[in-house]
Amino acid sequence: MPAVALLLDRLLELSRQLGREERKLAILGEGNTSARAGEGTLLVKASGSNLATLTPAGVTECRLDGLIAMLQERSLTDAQVDEGLFTSRVDPKAMKPSVEAVFHAFLLTLPGVNFVGHTHPVAVNRLLCSGHASAFARRRIFPDEVVCCGPESVLVPYADPGLKLAQAIRRALLAHIRRAGLPPRIILLQNHGLISLGATPEAVLAATLMAVKAAEIFTGAAALGGPRFLSRSQVARIAGRPDEHYRQKVLGL
Ligand SMILES: [Zn+2]
Repeated sequence: MPAVALLLDRLLELSRQLGREERKLAILGEGNTSARAGEGTLLVKASGSNLATLTPAGVTECRLDGLIAMLQERSLTDAQVDEGLFTSRVDPKAMKPSVEAVFHAFLLTLPGVNFVGHTHPVAVNRLLCSGHASAFARRRIFPDEVVCCGPESVLVPYADPGLKLAQAIRRALLAHIRRAGLPPRIILLQNHGLISLGATPEAVLAATLMAVKAAEIFTGAAALGGPRFLSRSQVARIAGRPDEHYRQKVLGL
């Protein structure tokens, strides 16, 4: 099978996993996924297609450079953003890429990031629409959360979906990478949703499902007078353990 067909297969499988209705991560046209392809392109979910039932026709291949150039623009009208999205397509007959293709393009240029999954999980959004969003992003409550979601997530303040959101994500990510030296595994969008980054589709799915589990535990612990967070040194210990690194490798994280 040619490399791009194999990549498309992996992206479709990730999308369908994230779209499974009982997981409550996305319904209708919510959420989007992408993968870094060869020669400066990405595969990204088309606007209006559904994660649970995504087919090859619902995925559009776009050039990275055109989308990333839009991040430098101070103010584009909605029509200019649409034009940029249409122009970025490799095949002019392909569907219009998701309006979030700009942030997908940026994230896929980060080291070690080959797949991106964006969803609106009920359990995570419950926290992101509350005063607990910052604590949920900065702190950790159990070891497997550290293994799958990393020692800390990045919280992005609310921004209009599309170009403004992509620019806000870029600002927050660059600040995080300057401080921590590595991209995060999880980005939390205030009053909006979750983005998981990974080298493999398995890593993106694992980080998403573990973030949902952590959100459910956080909310339950908050109702019981908590949560009690792991200390910074406990988190650093898990993140740095060789046996956990081995486990991450075996799990494809
Ligand atoms: Zn969204």
